Amino acid sequence: MDRADIGLIGLGVMGANLSLNIAEKGYRVAVHNRTASKIDEFVAGAGDLRDRIVPNADLRAFVQSIRAPRSIIIMVKAGAPVDMTIESLLPFLEQGDSVIDAGNANYQDTIRRFGELTPKGIGFLGIGVSGGEEGARHGPSIMVGGSKAQWHNAEGVLTAIAAKFKGESCCAYLGEGGAGHFVKTIHNGIEYADMQMIAEVYGVMRDGMGMSPKACAEVFKSWNGGPLNSYLIEITGHVLEAIDDETGKPLVDLIVDRAGQKGTGRWSAIAAEELGVAATAIEGAVAARSLSSIKAERQAAEKVYGSLTRTAKSGTGVSLEDLEQALLAGKIVSYAQGFAVLSKASEENSWNLPLGTIAKIWRAGCIIRSRFLDQMAAAYDKGEAINLLMAPDFVEIMKKGQAALRRVVAEGALGGVPMTCLSASLSYFDTYRQGRGTANLIQGQRDFFGAHGFEIDGRGGDLHHHWPATIHES
Ligand code: NAP
Repeated sequence: MDRADIGLIGLGVMGANLSLNIAEKGYRVAVHNRTASKIDEFVAGAGDLRDRIVPNADLRAFVQSIRAPRSIIIMVKAGAPVDMTIESLLPFLEQGDSVIDAGNANYQDTIRRFGELTPKGIGFLGIGVSGGEEGARHGPSIMVGGSKAQWHNAEGVLTAIAAKFKGESCCAYLGEGGAGHFVKTIHNGIEYADMQMIAEVYGVMRDGMGMSPKACAEVFKSWNGGPLNSYLIEITGHVLEAIDDETGKPLVDLIVDRAGQKGTGRWSAIAAEELGVAATAIEGAVAARSLSSIKAERQAAEKVYGSLTRTAKSGTGVSLEDLEQALLAGKIVSYAQGFAVLSKASEENSWNLPLGTIAKIWRAGCIIRSRFLDQMAAAYDKGEAINLLMAPDFVEIMKKGQAALRRVVAEGALGGVPMTCLSASLSYFDTYRQGRGTANLIQGQRDFFGAHGFEIDGRGGDLHHHWPATIHES
């Protein structure tokens, strides 16, 4: 039997779909899974693609069934299972083979694994795969990091299985070590912010405007035909119009308002903090998910403080057009923050991340695919700006949308509709565009209590003032 072109371990939701995608593109794929029964189930369900699948429950035989130098994709639960799988593979690998971790790894683990495998002569790629189950089956966005030499070994397969945007593959090599997984982490942070801002706008429609889920769905569907066009806006329309089979009621009204999180959004907020980059929209979105999880506490607080002061009865002072403009402006700020984190991480890790290419490979296949990513890619390709808020196309959109964003955030504040993420975007924008801020006062305070020094134009830095002694009262 001919050897397989590539191997894949982990036939869970993502691994099974990726394997079928690989086989469909004409490659022979060797497959293995810890629980052997899943291999049989997978093969039984592979239909016409069965001929290109090389199943093996024995790990040594699995490795030997792949042509050398081997590329083996690991698609198992992130964390310790990845280390355990690599450990079990090592005795059977040869110099020049490579392991590709395609799960949602923490990029620091990827850097560690890259460092552990490289001296052994085993290549390591950490790839971010976005698009969920559907993307894995028909074309995800693939963000590659790790050994460049090993990338060339797997490039054909990975490029073929990725989503295509106007014929261009949404798969690219982005840099050494943890670059691919870092970019995927920030992708997920942007995804959190995007989803949260959509939910906040839905909150205004539901609680401020008294709109039914069906009416909200119609609005999101119409927005999907305009500048907000994106996968998340599209699926929001579908989620809002779904009906529960059992009760005949709108499904969204029955779903408990407690959002889960697996960690990548939180990692992106932590990474931004560690790098010293303001990513307030992403942080706000992570915080909003945490607050959503304390439902019992929120219900108790509602009894203490009462519910909204402005309800559907009194209406809101914003229009649907305001909501559309505000959402667009807020989303642009969150993408700008995400790209600013990528830019700083690139500098710190010497990754030389191609920001334009990242925007390009997010244009199809991934969860945050949206029309304006094409404009973002063009802005980076033209070298227009590091922060997207300074790129001419986005300056125009922000100039047009900022008034609506202000109205929506203000209305939310007056009506008690939470605006965790949209208000964070607005505050970031206002701070970013303010030539003279208020940190002068903070520097004065810091010098007062800690002699940290301050700077005065024309007199230099590290200056101090003789502050009065304060009286400590107990
Ligand atoms: P899943 O359906 O839960 O499958 C998990 C896989 O991991 C199974 O093959 C399981 O093997 C294997 N596994 C778990 N613990 C193991 C261990 N200790 N040793 C060896 N194998 C082990 O997971 P999934 O949704 O496909 O996700 C896989 C990876 O993709 C994760 O890192 C996830 O974060 C990432 N990801 C998921 C999505 C998504 O939409 N689901 C999107 C992008 C990325 P057994 O069958 O033996 O239990």
